[in-house]
Amino acid sequence: MSALYGTYARSELAFERGKGVRLFSQDGTPYLDFHSGIAVNALGHGDEYVVNALKAAAERVWHTSNVFTIPEQEKLGQRLVDNTFADACFFTNSGTEAIECAIKTARHHFFANGQPDRYEIIAFTGSFHGRTLGAIAAGGNPSYLEGFGPALEGFVHTAPGDLAAVEALISDKTCGILIEPVQGEGGVSAMPVEFMRGLRALCDKHGLLLILDEVQCGYGRTGRFFAHEWSGITPDIMAVAKGIGAGFPLGACLATAEVAKSMVPGTHGSTYGGNPLACAIGNAVLDRLMAPGFLDEVDRMGQRLAWHLQQLQQRFPHHVVELRGKGLLAGIKLATPVKDFVLRLRNDQHMLAQSAGDNVLRLLPPLVITEADIEEAVGKIAAAFEAMDAEPSAQARSA
Ligand SMILES: *Cc1c(COP(=O)(O)O)cnc(C)c1O
Repeated sequence: MSALYGTYARSELAFERGKGVRLFSQDGTPYLDFHSGIAVNALGHGDEYVVNALKAAAERVWHTSNVFTIPEQEKLGQRLVDNTFADACFFTNSGTEAIECAIKTARHHFFANGQPDRYEIIAFTGSFHGRTLGAIAAGGNPSYLEGFGPALEGFVHTAPGDLAAVEALISDKTCGILIEPVQGEGGVSAMPVEFMRGLRALCDKHGLLLILDEVQCGYGRTGRFFAHEWSGITPDIMAVAKGIGAGFPLGACLATAEVAKSMVPGTHGSTYGGNPLACAIGNAVLDRLMAPGFLDEVDRMGQRLAWHLQQLQQRFPHHVVELRGKGLLAGIKLATPVKDFVLRLRNDQHMLAQSAGDNVLRLLPPLVITEADIEEAVGKIAAAFEAMDAEPSAQARSA
């Protein structure tokens, strides 16, 4: 029996090396990785540039403390600020901590402005914000909240897409609206541009903060640096993680100067957050993402993936219920149980993908894929559909 908590329904599959879009299991079998450690391995496996940066950083100082200046952190922070709406950032080790910082920043902004009772955040059903007590309250998923005592107070939820329903929830307690521009875990739904603009307008009208969770959809995944850029709006606060370290634990909360200014000494902290080793890697990942043409190519691959998936849907309309997502955060709502299909892809086709809510197959390839990789992946999905159609149970159904 494993010595680990039983919190994951783990596969016995273990990988021992990786190169680009491929992972190799202990017996040497290659797997096509359209999972990327759930949207983390943005540069695939073994990216030479980042590996070299890690090796160099390992020979320098790994960790000091945030009581000292950390030049790598200053540099990464400045670059994030230079390339986004933000004026300041706080580094964390994970997405859920970035969300915690976002919630605390929003609440503290109103506290410092003499409105301590404005702490309520409007969030959305189908969202996922992480697993800390604050994040499960923000996500509002009853099955993640059950058994952990009273949920952190101060969150209300409504279904995404309905601006009037959002406005109806605004009260003199409301401090902000929290949303994933593309819901990942919940079912790969991209928020319509008009809805995102409407939320920004509601925040402006009522003096609220727009808080975006771009932990999964950000950092290039949709073909722009951040997904909200597609709607032409900017948030006041944003949580970032996953791709930012491309496999090294790192996250960040970004904010405007106006909002960040109340986060003074003593209000928040992290022992590891933004340590020299993490930020050296973060800087190397950002070098790769910001190289001329990189994000344009991600955008192009996102469009090619969408095109190939449309062809797949035309061939297999009895399997593909709906196509979802944006860029390289793509979803296929399936007609048959997605968990079984994920296993089928893994065991029979040696392809890794992830399930999401609402019976959606989630495709999260590394951002460095080529069109040949996309064709291979779509070919494997097609082969899995064909195998299902050829099985006796399927023939019995159609007879
Ligand atoms: C993964 C995820 C989180 C939580 O990140 P962790 O690093 O697992 O804490 C939060 N929000 C979104 C949208 C995510 O996809």
